[in-house]
Amino acid sequence: VDPGTDGPLVVVGGDAAGMSAAAEARRCDPRRPVVVLERSEHVSYAACGFPYWLGGLVDERDDLVAHDAAYFRERRGIDVRLGHEVAAVDPEARRVELAGGGRVPYGVLVLATGARPALPDVPGTDLPGVHALRDMSSAIALGAALDRLEGGGSALLVGCGPIGLEMAENLCRRGLRIHLIEAADQLAPALHPDVAAPVAHALREGCATSRVDVDLSALRPAPAGRVEAVVDGVPEVHDLVLLATGIVPNAGIGAAAGCRTGPRGALAVDRACRTSVPGILAAGDCATAWHRILERDVWQPLATTANRQGRVAGRTACGREDLFPGILGSWVSEAFGVTFGVTGLDEPAAAEAGFRPTAVARTGRDRSGYMPGATEVCVRLVYDAPTGRLLGGQTAGGRDSANRLRALAVALTARLTVGELAGVDAAYAPPVSALRDPLELAAAAAVGDAP
Ligand SMILES: Cc1cc2nc3c(=O)[nH]c(=O)nc-3n(C[C@H](O)[C@H](O)[C@H](O)COP(=O)(O)OP(=O)(O)OC[C@H]3O[C@@H](n4cnc5c(N)ncnc54)[C@H](O)[C@@H]3O)c2cc1C
Repeated sequence: VDPGTDGPLVVVGGDAAGMSAAAEARRCDPRRPVVVLERSEHVSYAACGFPYWLGGLVDERDDLVAHDAAYFRERRGIDVRLGHEVAAVDPEARRVELAGGGRVPYGVLVLATGARPALPDVPGTDLPGVHALRDMSSAIALGAALDRLEGGGSALLVGCGPIGLEMAENLCRRGLRIHLIEAADQLAPALHPDVAAPVAHALREGCATSRVDVDLSALRPAPAGRVEAVVDGVPEVHDLVLLATGIVPNAGIGAAAGCRTGPRGALAVDRACRTSVPGILAAGDCATAWHRILERDVWQPLATTANRQGRVAGRTACGREDLFPGILGSWVSEAFGVTFGVTGLDEPAAAEAGFRPTAVARTGRDRSGYMPGATEVCVRLVYDAPTGRLLGGQTAGGRDSANRLRALAVALTARLTVGELAGVDAAYAPPVSALRDPLELAAAAAVGDAP
């Protein structure tokens, strides 16, 4: 980092990125004081697990907490201060100003302030019956609302991204009737329509009704704490509304301190997680990340990136040379028994990056067709037509999307061509895999080795 590394490492934000940075710095330099300032009463919780706790699959909320503040204080020697919100950073004086008054000096600062919900621009998003799931407090509030409904009632779920779909399934588990609305013209709009089809089918077969291409124009209070939503101009009343309409980075205090911002207003960092201001690092959902294929910074907030960038920031803070390896934008999800996800680029992104993308899609079985439970899986690969270089892929179906995407992410990292992926010697046994996995089928079809 820069010469002013004397003085404590101060981390703002105590979740995935912040606690990873703090713990890694503690490992690298056991003598350096590490202070974590967290505005809420919670640290190191798995937001990714909220849907499953809310749905009742995970019994205890505490099961989602990797380690509590006492563990970090007593076992790791990290000075975790809960209820400490940072209002401003003074980079000249190297100190942060607390919202409740008081200052904390730093030698190096790591901003790990995450993101907040991007609420639709309609009146009523702040009504008591309207929820957005982001941090532990919002999960607790939604959990309390679900408890009050005692396994009945109707929920309007706005947004059909991965979190919307996960919540649709888990609110169904709680016995609610789900009405899912999406502004785009298809369900699961993050997926190509071919890949989204099995997801949409599973959603329709599940307990949710869904509508696409719709417009939410207002949320209003209704009797008995219910909410009236105006959808395509028509009012409808629900017991609760859940907004799953995306997020925006919490970059405000960093930007006000002079840190350059990048895509979507996130704090621009280099691959050592340094911002443009000496002594200030940033990691996780508040920051940009280097994309391995695009070879530029993007903003794709995910737990995987937050953890890894946090560790890099912790090492950089200790003066260790380390570079964030970059992302592929890989994510995976599951809803109503169907897994689905993405890694790498789709065609528009690939074309924008100067490639000449083409795509191939194939559907096959996840194991031998004669085995019980064999399930259809769709794989769609994007590759550069002149060179054959793999650029990305999407898949949906069955239980194994995470493994299929992992294999594809390895291929992207190794810069394999679609033909090389087709030739990979993968394992086969009837109950667990197909002789030709759908991933191989799609790659082989691209080079004329499969129908
Ligand atoms: C429901 C849900 C499901 C998800 N599922 C997945 C998944 O399956 N896979 C995946 O990869 N990702 C998933 N994510 C995303 C993942 O949770 C985030 O990418 C990850 O939590 C980001 O970690 P972070 O530390 O950067 O930010 P955050 O988790 O947002 O933490 C930031 C922390 O900073 C604190 N803070 C903010 N401002 C201040 C301030 N001024 N002063 C003091 N403290 C401050 C906040 O209170 C918060 O605790 C999911 C997210 C949600 C909400």
